[in-house]
Amino acid sequence: MAGIYIHIPFCKQACYYCNFHFSTSFERYRSEMIASICTELKHKKSVFKGVNIKTVYFGGGTPSLLENQEVDSILLTLYQNYDLSSVEEITIEANPEDVSLHKLKHWKLKGINRISLGVQSFFEDDLQQMNRVHDSKQAIKALEHIKSAGFDNFSIDFMFALPLLSDQQLIRNLDKVIELNVPHISCYNLTVEEQTALIQLIKKGKVEELSQEKSIRQFELIMEKLSNHKYLQYEISNYAKQGYKSKHNSAYWEQKPYIGVGPSAHSFYQNVRTHNIPSNTGYIKKINSGSDYFETEELTEKDLFNELVMTRLRTCEGVNIREIELLFPMYFDNFKAKTAVFLRGGQLAFFGEEYRLTKEGKLMADYIASEFFEV
Ligand code: SF4
Repeated sequence: MAGIYIHIPFCKQACYYCNFHFSTSFERYRSEMIASICTELKHKKSVFKGVNIKTVYFGGGTPSLLENQEVDSILLTLYQNYDLSSVEEITIEANPEDVSLHKLKHWKLKGINRISLGVQSFFEDDLQQMNRVHDSKQAIKALEHIKSAGFDNFSIDFMFALPLLSDQQLIRNLDKVIELNVPHISCYNLTVEEQTALIQLIKKGKVEELSQEKSIRQFELIMEKLSNHKYLQYEISNYAKQGYKSKHNSAYWEQKPYIGVGPSAHSFYQNVRTHNIPSNTGYIKKINSGSDYFETEELTEKDLFNELVMTRLRTCEGVNIREIELLFPMYFDNFKAKTAVFLRGGQLAFFGEEYRLTKEGKLMADYIASEFFEV
């Protein structure tokens, strides 16, 4: 099983909290960017020679800004250079303001079978404060279009602990999603990242400091509400109705190989991680001149172990003790010894062969994972 991630580094405007790689002034080189992405796909085809590609993911940035013929040229390159004969999931991230029925029908026709919609909140105050392009009416309309175009597999992204989002409003956001029968929800805690407008706004006192208490409280509210409505929290930030887990993201958490193309994209295969240059024009130049456009990082046993523990702990399956014993016998005793503290403290529970975070453990998942790291 292998996946392909395609990073589309364009956005209409910068959301204040975002530190992903994107540019808002891309028109002068957009066709060169699409051509470069296709060239990179061709370069990397030998990595997955003879391998069935199970998932493709258009992320960004804002892939829904792509014109239909741009999506087509990327898909055509994929079909011509990779074995997509048994592909199961092709996802595209979309923002509500870009989603027209025409575009959705085109995507469906071309084999895209999953949409991930960036809604964030149904309250205008939140959307404006974070400088989102869309309003809540556009989000609802987009969801209606997604359904009318025949997509049953779709997801929305939500944020919590936004400065203006009260607990009651959070519940109303969730009620709306439940009412709209959305099969998959990703809920992300707003965090303040370096080099974002948000950190400056907070420093200047224009946006209230984020509250950790509120973030914990709202996370608990989300877990409770969604589990009451039969959403499985299959990863700490992801909730799905039965049959609607994201296959692409699940493969990341299972350490399956993937290649990422486009500026700033990462790849992981044969225990190596590569990082593409995070510059749009630099990427195009290097691709065109045939020079190196990525850095390579050889992952050590420790890196692989730490990554496995960190990602698996965040999933509902947890860390399988037999897998640790088999893949990392040198760390097995240490790992087992460390579990005792968290089992006693009630942050971990043991099911058959798996250590899983309890509800309390989920509130401190990163800390618990870091305690298991080999350094
Ligand atoms: S649309 Fe997405 S990628 Fe673009 S700035 Fe907003 S959050 Fe970041």
